[in-house]
Amino acid sequence: MSNQEVPYKIYLTEDEMPKSWYNLRADMKNKPAPLMNPGTHKPMTAEELGQVFCAELVQQELDDTTPFIEIPDEIRNFYKMYRPSPLVRAYCLEEKLQTPAKIYYKFEGNNTSGSHKLNSAIAQAYYAKKQGLKGVTTETGAGQWGTALSMACAYLGLDCKVYMVKVSYEQKPFRREVMRTYGASVVPSPSETTEVGKKILAEHPGTTGSLGCAISEAVEVAVKNPGYRYVLGSVLNQVLLHQSVIGLEAKTALDKYGIKPDIIIGCAGGGSNLGGLIAPFMGEKLRGEADYRIIAVEPASCPSFTRGTFAYDFCDTGMICPLAKMYTLGSSFIPSANHAGGLRFHGMSTTLSQLYHDGYMEATSVEQTSVFEAAEMFARIEGILPAPESSHAIRVAIDEALKCKETGEEKTIVFGLTGTGYFDLVAYQKYNDGEMSDYIPTDEEIAASVAKLPKID
Ligand SMILES: *Cc1c(COP(=O)(O)O)cnc(C)c1O
Repeated sequence: MSNQEVPYKIYLTEDEMPKSWYNLRADMKNKPAPLMNPGTHKPMTAEELGQVFCAELVQQELDDTTPFIEIPDEIRNFYKMYRPSPLVRAYCLEEKLQTPAKIYYKFEGNNTSGSHKLNSAIAQAYYAKKQGLKGVTTETGAGQWGTALSMACAYLGLDCKVYMVKVSYEQKPFRREVMRTYGASVVPSPSETTEVGKKILAEHPGTTGSLGCAISEAVEVAVKNPGYRYVLGSVLNQVLLHQSVIGLEAKTALDKYGIKPDIIIGCAGGGSNLGGLIAPFMGEKLRGEADYRIIAVEPASCPSFTRGTFAYDFCDTGMICPLAKMYTLGSSFIPSANHAGGLRFHGMSTTLSQLYHDGYMEATSVEQTSVFEAAEMFARIEGILPAPESSHAIRVAIDEALKCKETGEEKTIVFGLTGTGYFDLVAYQKYNDGEMSDYIPTDEEIAASVAKLPKID
């Protein structure tokens, strides 16, 4: 099929939206390692997990055999307010780059939270409501997850308590106000409102916080307050499951035009958008039906895949959460405050970690100045102001397209444009003023936090 027959935007009808999420784990021969109880070093049981998480989400977390899980009508109806999201052919970017590559991006920024996170937020809030809970607690870094969860909770009438990484709380006051507008309470983390927050503040006075700290605080509050559970916006299997809606839609759209991607690229913080985008494609790869190059892109300042260790580790700094076997920089790793672009989590989804370990996907890391250079180019040519996180994927998509220019190969590249950057203007300002620099942790720094990994025999 010739290029021109593919429209700039491939939209699906509501009826073409997926009716089930796809659970990638069902097709994995080597399943991701189970979450482990930090005290007993035994796999977490449903009962133990149920003290922290909603019951039905625990079932989804533990289910690594059911390939398709039906999306409840209530969630599907909510999805219809902002989905299906478009798959865009980046004709203008191709033209600018003078590349024979065909570039597509799946745009998830078309909702107030400004990112893909709403796909899982509404699902998690729905199951909390169904269980009759009063509310949920969570952490947020850059603020997209907190905003998405606030929106979902407002819609369903649930209370929402958000622990926001202090540096973001201070840098992004408008993000905080959006959450409050949706009825959430927002506390800068680490805070004096929890035992673990007090402990972290005593040990690291003046810390700007980390996702790991904020998770510890949110879990503590959920466990101590009857009628509350903790919800997490990335990393967990259940989140990747909900995000499979991204990949399923993308695949349906591509199939409509008989397009088969060669390279699929996504940014990786905890792995949820990437896990969701690649899900049906990786499924085909695992079943031996097709082959794709799949590339995870992470910041050079927080390089879990490319420089981390595949081991059991805590997901939080306070070491109260279950252990997950993942590529990790160590739960005590705190990315440099200089780092502007999100994707600050020290670990990675257990599912993606296992797939990477088994050679089903690649990973690469990029420095933030080159990320913002790609963001600026993309904004000027494709019109959308991208989130810095998403711009990691843009960077590598552009680099792959430029390689095609050299070799003359007409590869088809699909990348995830996870969100918009309206709340990241402090970072854009730094870039525009020429004040952004790159920070790459030394081997010694990484070794020091990896040395503190829990000892498991
Ligand atoms: C949260 C976020 C990410 C990274 O999280 P993943 O779980 O790795 O997908 C990427 N882009 C945007 C816009 C985000 O909000």
